[in-house]
Amino acid sequence: MTRPDAPTAVRQGSLREWNLAVVLGRIAAADRPPSRAELAAGTGLTRATVSAVVEDLLAGRLVAEAEPTPRTGAGRPSRGLVLATDGPAGLGLEVNVDYLAACVVDLAGRVRHHRVHRADLRPLSPAEALARLADLAADARAEATRERLTLAGAALAVPGLVGEAGLVRLAPNLGWRDVPVPALLGRAAPLTAHVDGVPPLVVDNEANLAALGELHAGPGDRASFLHISGEVGIGAGIVLDGSLFRGTRGWSGEIGHITIRPDGPPCRCGGRGCLETYAGQEAVLAAAGLGGADLPADTATTRLAELAGAGDPAALRALAEAGTALGVAVAGVVNLLDLDTVVLGGGYAPLAPWLCPPVLAEVSRRVLTAAWSPVTVRPATLGAAAAAVGGAGSVVRRILDQPTGWLARPA
Ligand SMILES: [Zn+2]
Repeated sequence: MTRPDAPTAVRQGSLREWNLAVVLGRIAAADRPPSRAELAAGTGLTRATVSAVVEDLLAGRLVAEAEPTPRTGAGRPSRGLVLATDGPAGLGLEVNVDYLAACVVDLAGRVRHHRVHRADLRPLSPAEALARLADLAADARAEATRERLTLAGAALAVPGLVGEAGLVRLAPNLGWRDVPVPALLGRAAPLTAHVDGVPPLVVDNEANLAALGELHAGPGDRASFLHISGEVGIGAGIVLDGSLFRGTRGWSGEIGHITIRPDGPPCRCGGRGCLETYAGQEAVLAAAGLGGADLPADTATTRLAELAGAGDPAALRALAEAGTALGVAVAGVVNLLDLDTVVLGGGYAPLAPWLCPPVLAEVSRRVLTAAWSPVTVRPATLGAAAAAVGGAGSVVRRILDQPTGWLARPA
């Protein structure tokens, strides 16, 4: 920490912080491992400064020397720099209606560990569900340690509205109301090392974290898109100019409760005719005749895709109806926000071949500007694990943006 009575120290501290972040950012963004000379040329820093910064980053296990590439001609082979694969990592956790997930993502964004536990969590109390999640988290930590990674922070995705201090105000499909998640997950608190600037546990809406996962996995850091997670509930993450738009209280993106028909079937939220009652996983499976099959959701979704692929009329009709309802809601969002890309994630991703055409048809029909600027509707890059991976990725992003907290942590 810097002292308020030491302005010079503050300035030097800030400069070092800045240099570390700039050099680390260059290494993270490079297509191939840059040399120290290339980093100096690219950042405008002196070679001596770059060398000193790189020494700090190497000592702190944030970067590593790449395998030398043999040079043709004279001179030493050049050794580029890459992000370390044995340094800090993020822990991503997810609790959803019918599964729990835990994953570990390293500094380079690679998923190093991933486990999903399938079970209907609705009969369990929040404490019981979170105790199971704590077990998964403990396994993830053990695996990270085996891989010589240090968990620097955790992010937990929940299918509901998250208030201050990780309090889950409402998760309608789980039947949770005012659940103090961090306290109940208490066993996970010592899972992560203490790193300044990285919260030990962030609780966020699963659609938000899934959208961040898609942003990190995608091509552009300045992208704008709508990411829709289709599970039992339907949530959306709105990414504008490379940033998540959370709304005033962090509760944006409740696309599942946009009204499709005011006099439609009752919804778990208390309203009627919400998108979820037409395009939620349970509604689609029931319409396809798979409702009472008592299959785990991912198996049922795979089965639905198989049936649709084989031309089963009920499956095709169910998907067309869900896609149409989804398209009506999406068209409203696109008219409002002027987005050009819609990503279908979660349980929607494997069904995208059948959902995209009706969604596009509604968007073309209802979006004022569609004639001049077509909207792309595509499946998510990350599969069903997007929220946990996105959460873990947001932890390592914090370290990349502000590496001094990691470097200063107690050994
Ligand atoms: Zn609703």
